[in-house]
Amino acid sequence: MQSSDLNFDRDHIWHPYTSFNNPLPVYPVQRAQGCELELTDGRRLIDGMSSWWAAIHGYNHPELNAAAQQQLQEMSHVMFGGITHQPAVDLCRRLVKHSPAGLQRVFLADSGSVAVEVAIKMAVQYWVARELPAKNRLATLRGGYHGDTFAAMSVCDPVNGMHSLFRGSLREQLFAPVPSLTPDDEWDPSAIAPLEHLLAEHQHELAALILEPIVQGAGGMRFYHPRYLQEAAALCKRYQVLLIADEIATGFGRTGRWFACDHADVSPDIMCVGKALTGGYMTQAAVLCSDDIATTISHGPANGTFMHGPTFMGNPLACAVANASLELLERNEWQEQVAAIAAQLKTELEPLRQLASVADVRCFGAIGVVEMVAPVDVANAQQQFVEAGVWIRPFGRLVYLMPPYIITPEQLSKLTKAIAELARQG
Ligand SMILES: *Cc1c(COP(=O)(O)O)cnc(C)c1O
Repeated sequence: MQSSDLNFDRDHIWHPYTSFNNPLPVYPVQRAQGCELELTDGRRLIDGMSSWWAAIHGYNHPELNAAAQQQLQEMSHVMFGGITHQPAVDLCRRLVKHSPAGLQRVFLADSGSVAVEVAIKMAVQYWVARELPAKNRLATLRGGYHGDTFAAMSVCDPVNGMHSLFRGSLREQLFAPVPSLTPDDEWDPSAIAPLEHLLAEHQHELAALILEPIVQGAGGMRFYHPRYLQEAAALCKRYQVLLIADEIATGFGRTGRWFACDHADVSPDIMCVGKALTGGYMTQAAVLCSDDIATTISHGPANGTFMHGPTFMGNPLACAVANASLELLERNEWQEQVAAIAAQLKTELEPLRQLASVADVRCFGAIGVVEMVAPVDVANAQQQFVEAGVWIRPFGRLVYLMPPYIITPEQLSKLTKAIAELARQG
């Protein structure tokens, strides 16, 4: 890529969470193949990010490519109002099959954030239909992340999520503390008490509890005890609060199960998926809900219609690739791959705990997190990683890996070594 293009990018193009006054360097990628990104200057980087949880099968996958190409010959898009098509039917059938029991109805959405909006609207419409319209607020956990649109932002961690910037535009929701026990801790019933108090006190105004099951992603990369999720689900039933599981980061095998809810045998009322749904090929998400949610809304006001319907709903191209991605998962090789990545991440990252610069090391499924004592200088760290031939993008004090499932042990070692090198420099 020419320097004029990079200059244009710097002067005209927003990247995620950036400022034009303090632009961070961007690296031009020419192509991506397997677990590698290739820069325009020919350097190849082993990918530790799966493009933010999405590219679970690696890049340029022949079967995903074939699915996209085949679908292109038929139609890349057609409206979903009054029309259906095979890719959507196949995809929704697969989603229902693999999701926790009871999730039977599917809404196809455009992105993760939109899926969260849709889930929240479902919860609100449900209580309107039950003639309890005062139940329209949300409870959630601190340290969470649910997306960047307004309702989604309102349930992100209030500090990380910069609620102060948007005060007046954001609904004030109710926050329980970050769950105190990790999956490795012994269960202690007092861990659920703060959430119980919150639900007990506010049940009459709460539509739903929304949370990321077991793994809190972009809000802090923390893992909590599966029993907490079980207890939270039971409390939701007791206090008549719906449970929305945001599986956008955790879905499709990342934690070692199809969905993180499966670790706790929990069936939420509503579940959001996204990110890895299309194997990282294009944007698509889905919201699944129980029969009770769907039929209650369908008996409610607005002639029983659920009031949402995006232009690109059910995009056939995205559905076709999602089907191919789910077919790959149905072959079940991911289970061994994820278990192997999990074991190797533990072995190779855990020793870094000893370093003075490292505050904590956490691993769960195919996710490895090194929390530093001090915030990481992202530009410097990225440059160092690129020079070492890896692609890792830290945020805040967190340096973390969630590689494609097909990564080899040698490639993964290169990633963990690069993190160790950074951590050793302090
Ligand atoms: C990424 C993410 C979202 C938002 O998805 P987008 O596709 O970026 O809008 C929501 N919830 C969780 C848990 C996520 O990880």
